[in-house]
Amino acid sequence: MKQLIRCVNCDAVFLKTPYDQWPEYEMGSRESVESVQSIEKDDFKDFLIHHRGHRLEELKIIEDSYVSEKPYYEPVKTSYFRATNGKDMFVIKKFRRRIGDPLTYELIMGDYSLKCISIEIQEEEIIKQLKTEWRLSPPPQNKINAFIKLLRHLSKTVDLRELERVREESPSPLVIYYKLDDVSLAYLMRNCRGIFKGNEYEEIEGFINRHKEEGVLLLKATYKIHISEKVHSQEEQVTPLPFIKRRILESK
Ligand SMILES: [Zn+2]
Repeated sequence: MKQLIRCVNCDAVFLKTPYDQWPEYEMGSRESVESVQSIEKDDFKDFLIHHRGHRLEELKIIEDSYVSEKPYYEPVKTSYFRATNGKDMFVIKKFRRRIGDPLTYELIMGDYSLKCISIEIQEEEIIKQLKTEWRLSPPPQNKINAFIKLLRHLSKTVDLRELERVREESPSPLVIYYKLDDVSLAYLMRNCRGIFKGNEYEEIEGFINRHKEEGVLLLKATYKIHISEKVHSQEEQVTPLPFIKRRILESK
């Protein structure tokens, strides 16, 4: 069982995960499970000693809230997940600076959101695929250019909220692929009639139909993790010495 413990006084967190943390320790063949467990236990003991007399509370990790900039198999990366004490929402930042370093957890009061920073077409892939699949004499460059321009225009006018997300192999968890919606596809086809004539139009129509569901015609959206930190509320701040009293002290 994972247990996320927060020290309310210091805003430090400790994740108690006896099982998950095993791989964090480079286990030699001679090391037994017990010795690894004891390392984990000692870490928690250190945390308890360090925060003796402080108010500790358990935070509940919000399911499916895990986000990361890099794929799960990358050892050096920063990830975030949400947790709550039932009243406040927190973002837990999980990271390690170097390979072999233990994971560090940092508590941020607030929330995160994913912000889309760009929507692109897969230009290089489209051109390559178009040239490979074109059965007539190679398509003229000016028509390819016009087709690309049309797609670029579409990528700038679509509303991502209306597009269907496609589960595609992505180099990054923050890159998401989307299918063009029916309205965009109809617009694309209509405009292609002005660019491609006769057999050429049939070629491009076939191309669009082959790639609209998956592959090169998917739009590529890149996201960024945006953390919105909340300033501590009054009651939680350490009350400074009142101004008047301080003046009296200073005047003495
Ligand atoms: Zn503490």
